[in-house]
Formats: sequence, structure tokens, C-alpha cells
Amino acid sequence: MTRHVLVTGANRGIGRAIAESFVAAGFTVSSIHRSGELPEGVDGAIADITDTDAVNAAFDALEERHGRVEVLVANAGITRDGLLMRMSDEDFETVLDTNLTGTFRCVRRATQSMVRQRFGRIVLVGSVVGLMGNPGQVNYSASKSALVGMARSITREVGARGITANVIAPGFITTDMTDDLGADLVKQYEANIPAKRFGSTDDVAAAALYLASDGAGYVSGAVIPVDGGLGMGH
Ligand code: NDP
Repeated sequence: MTRHVLVTGANRGIGRAIAESFVAAGFTVSSIHRSGELPEGVDGAIADITDTDAVNAAFDALEERHGRVEVLVANAGITRDGLLMRMSDEDFETVLDTNLTGTFRCVRRATQSMVRQRFGRIVLVGSVVGLMGNPGQVNYSASKSALVGMARSITREVGARGITANVIAPGFITTDMTDDLGADLVKQYEANIPAKRFGSTDDVAAAALYLASDGAGYVSGAVIPVDGGLGMGH
């Protein structure tokens, strides 16, 4: 039987490319998504990851149809940028509730299945700014750096049960999220990236596929940068 991978937010952007790559590699692919259309070959359940009951119900429905989740790619995330001194509680809490607590809700439910089958691959989509920081992203950066502690704690807690947990830390990747940066800011950012360009969603998908592969069974608690060299040394 092919492995069941669940990708959150596979309707667009990085999540979509990850789901497509897993389909192409022969995995059974499902997604928790809250809107939009999923790629060909991906089964979905509608849920907002800020809602615990909805997340649990979506997992139940997808596992009923495809068996226990063996690989979780926690990809769904948002930004609400603003300078620290003017950032509202709501903008801080909404980002944390989605990127950090939302990821926790999915990881907690997935781990219940993984522990039973003594196999699991947890891939958390963090960000280079989680470790480097970025002006205007105190909320986002805090939510993403916390995923490193989460992956490492999962590794220590359930690593002996055949479960790995890692973080992919993308740099600037061309998606809707980076679309509204504007040409001037894009140029500025590109100048600081050793590769001198933004990455593609497929660059991130390749790292997710690797972490789910048999060859990565002894890789856990790691942060894998996919950033053209931007965050070297973090
Ligand atoms: P997009 O904005 O293109 O897509 C975000 C995805 O997350 C969408 O599918 C969106 O669903 C989903 N999502 C957001 N909030 C929720 C929620 N509450 N419940 C369910 N789904 C939700 O972003 P990217 O593809 O660029 O980003 C994907 C991940 O990669 C994010 O975690 C992001 O932080 C991270 N990342 C992105 C980088 C980049 O440069 N693009 C760099 C580093 C990290 P919907 O369509 O319904 O809104």
C-alpha cells in the first residue's frame, strides 16, 4: 500500500506544489483545506486549522477513506505584517493561532495515528525569518521559530516510535504570499540572497519529498533551509 500523506493548504502555493509532487511520486495524498480547488489526485476535507474539532473531524474523514496518516506536511500559514509598536493583539494572535497552534492541532492528531503504527514523518513548514528575524514580522517570525522547538520536542518525545519531525525553512519563494511585496522590495531582497533569485514552490516540494523518503528515516529535529543561501549559519 502506498503511504498516506496529508498536506495542509494544498489548494495553492507551496502546499499545492508539495501535494502535486507527492501524487507524482505515487503517494496517496489528502489535504485539509478551507477554500479553493485541490490538484488532480488529491482528496480533501474542508477545515480551518484554527478549529480543533474541524481539524479532528477532517483527519477522521480522510483516514476513514485512505487509512492512517503516515506523513504530515503542516504547510498552511499566514502573514499579518506590521511594525512592532503598532501591531495589534489581534494581528499577533491570529498569526500565532494559525501558524503555531494550528500546526500543533494537526501534529497532535497525526501523532495519535503515527504512534499506533510506529511510523510517521512530520514535516513542518517554517521560514528562514523564524531564525533570522525580519522587520515587520514579529508575529510571523515568532510563530515560525517556535516550530523548531516543536519539531525537536516531538523528536525527543516519540522519536523511539519510528517518528521523525523536521522543519523546512524556505527563504523567499514566489507565491501569493510574496506577490504583494512590490518590485522594489523584491529587488532589495534578491540582492541579499546568494542565489540572487527567489525560489520556486518545487524547490520546497523537493525537500518535503526527501524528508518523507525511506532515506531520511534517521533525520529528525533538523531545520532544512531552502533559501538560496540566505540564512546560512542559522
Ligand atoms: P499562500 O498564501 O500562497 O498559501 C497559504 C495556504 O495556507 C493556503 O492554502 C491557505 O488557504 C492556507 N491557510 C492559511 N490559513 C489557513 C487556515 N486557518 N486553515 C486552513 N488553511 C489555511 O502561502 P505560501 O504557499 O507562500 O506559504 C505556505 C507556507 O510556507 C506557509 O506556512 C508560509 O508561512 C511558508 N513560507 C512561505 C514563504 C514564501 O516566500 N512564500 C517563505 C517561507 C515560508 P486559503 O487558500 O483558504 O487561504
